[in-house]
Amino acid sequence: MTHVLLTLLSLASFPATWYIVKASMDQSKRWCFSDWCLTGNLASTMNTVTIYYWFLALSAIAVSICNVSSTAKRIASKRPFSGSSVSWGEVAWFASTVLLVWVIVPMTLWQDAWRRKSGSDQGLVRHILRTLLPISGDAIAVQIGLVLLPMSKNSFIATLFKIPYTNLFRVHIWLGRGLLQLVTVHFVAYCFGRPKTLSEILHKMFVFPVDATYGRKSFVSFDGTMTYLVLIAIAVTSMDRVRRCLYNVFFYSHALIFFFIVGAYIHASSNMFFAIPGLIMYTIDGILRTRSRAIKTQVQSVVLEDCGYICVTVKTTLAHTAKPGQFMRINFPQVSKFEFHPWTIASATETDATFLFSANPRKPNEWSMRVANLLRRFEASSSSSREAVEVCLQGPYGKEIDVASVDTNEMDAVVFYVGGTGIAAALRSIEALLLRNKQRADTHRPVRIYLFWSSQLGSLVDLSLIQAWVRDDAQDAFVVELFATRAAALAAEQRAQSCFGEQTPLLLAAAASEACESGNHKHYESTRNSLVAADRRSSVRRWSVCSVPDEDLVRFSESNVDSDTFSGSGSDETLGSQNGAAAGFAVSHGRCKLQDLLEKHVLNLTPLEEATFLNVGVFVCGPAGFTRDALVGCDEFEKEYNGIRLSVEVESFDA
Ligand SMILES: Cc1cc2nc3c(=O)[nH]c(=O)nc-3n(C[C@H](O)[C@H](O)[C@H](O)COP(=O)(O)OP(=O)(O)OC[C@H]3O[C@@H](n4cnc5c(N)ncnc54)[C@H](O)[C@@H]3O)c2cc1C
Repeated sequence: MTHVLLTLLSLASFPATWYIVKASMDQSKRWCFSDWCLTGNLASTMNTVTIYYWFLALSAIAVSICNVSSTAKRIASKRPFSGSSVSWGEVAWFASTVLLVWVIVPMTLWQDAWRRKSGSDQGLVRHILRTLLPISGDAIAVQIGLVLLPMSKNSFIATLFKIPYTNLFRVHIWLGRGLLQLVTVHFVAYCFGRPKTLSEILHKMFVFPVDATYGRKSFVSFDGTMTYLVLIAIAVTSMDRVRRCLYNVFFYSHALIFFFIVGAYIHASSNMFFAIPGLIMYTIDGILRTRSRAIKTQVQSVVLEDCGYICVTVKTTLAHTAKPGQFMRINFPQVSKFEFHPWTIASATETDATFLFSANPRKPNEWSMRVANLLRRFEASSSSSREAVEVCLQGPYGKEIDVASVDTNEMDAVVFYVGGTGIAAALRSIEALLLRNKQRADTHRPVRIYLFWSSQLGSLVDLSLIQAWVRDDAQDAFVVELFATRAAALAAEQRAQSCFGEQTPLLLAAAASEACESGNHKHYESTRNSLVAADRRSSVRRWSVCSVPDEDLVRFSESNVDSDTFSGSGSDETLGSQNGAAAGFAVSHGRCKLQDLLEKHVLNLTPLEEATFLNVGVFVCGPAGFTRDALVGCDEFEKEYNGIRLSVEVESFDA
């Protein structure tokens, strides 16, 4: 119910804006608080507002068509650039915003502006620049409106139109860069469009007009310059490099956007005209997010996986209706009061949700590592002395993995190609597909499910979340191949095992290996005892192990470890390759290549009798390089083999 109301409120913000704009253009300036109130030019301003709303309405219609027509959806989700997950849909929408802001809006305004700025003998270039000043000003106002639309995490409009989080996020970045370019054009037009000396211009830009009266355009130059500098600061801290290496700098400096909006409004009232719907939606989002801080829940259990990952189960009723692939934003107040991080729901029941994550040991001060340490302490302490770990949750957010949807898709096969913790995004979809295969076993051919999982960790076989699948002998048409790509970790694990005479958790393998070399076992043993409360090794061992010739393996062999240890009977015996064959599991040491895997598994499949194509859904989730290679592999595969239609979907963990 709340959801419906908030969706309606978000939608209502658009027509409401129409009246707010009219009220703020009232000649008496009663509802205008800017230094420069646009009051006179009602017709041309309302014209731009009308164009803007037509543009949004047409966009909504286009997205709705894609949602109901599979052909339209297929065309929109095609990718123009090999190796990139950017779709034609995104490119087309972004191109139309460029057309709107750089061509359509200026075309409706330029004649009037040109006439108003003519008269004095100022030369053609200066005349053009002076005409450009008001035109670029209006274009900026429209662009501000567009940038703010995809800003909310709780966007009910995005949920209503099923727009993926990744696409919104990407378009927001492009629009933000476009805004910087427009403001730069406006700034240049201001600096060079007036017959003033450099010192006069600098004085107007940087010296606060102390004696001026507010509301008479006296602050426009100073305020405009300050607002531009704020925008530059936001743009610099939002660069990919900064976001990747210094996420918190990016995150907190993004709060400057509010100074930018206030500054832009003080500069000219029109800057608020298009921003209102985005701001209303962001306010709703803000209220929901603030509320989530007050509702605390607790960690129920923690599993320290032997492969180094951590599964944490949290008490919550919010996740059980979430679709496979959706994520929540999680906060551990004991680690950080303000930081919320996105984690995909790896599994959920009516009363809890489980998340899977790993912490990078090379970044001991980062949030993930601090959370890992907190959870290890929680896990190591006895239940009587255990201090509760508090959690705040927001969401679920995001959309279902389309290619694996059990409601809408009839794929012949679904391939999950995931790297590292990207497995978390695939788990619930696989679970749902396996369940559907079982339920329809008597009437339908099972959908073939392939999980190709690559990870830098060496020992992947003990992930608790997938043990149930391994145990379930009835599972048909399910193939899992695990690729352990970091031979060094394996080598360390082996060294430690031969030294201590016991299997060492991979997490501690490096420390154990060092302890072996130095002969100082004490430190390692005390760390081990405090971290590992119980031996969690699973009794299930149905994995076959094969070795793949690969540069990693060569390095691995060179490190004095007997590589035969890892050569088993070979995976091919266990991997089913015919439709409906039994499940198979394999662990390989080396890098995986999606094209080879598709050739190995998918080429053998046959479509249903009445179908002309073999429909294969491919879901990719992993680091940027991994995803790029996968997409190139899919393109090559499709080019080479007719009759197989790949529908590719990418989830990115880079925010
Ligand atoms: C939709 C989505 C789902 C995800 N699901 C999982 C999951 O199930 N399991 C898992 O292990 N990881 C998941 N991640 C990644 C995880 O959120 C980040 O790895 C984690 O936040 C890293 O934080 P850090 O401070 O420890 O590392 P850092 O080294 O500071 O950051 C590493 C990268 O994580 C991202 N990041 C950092 N802080 C945040 C934040 N507050 N919000 C968003 N992104 C941030 C940035 O892109 C940064 O480049 C998901 C990410 C997204 C976007």
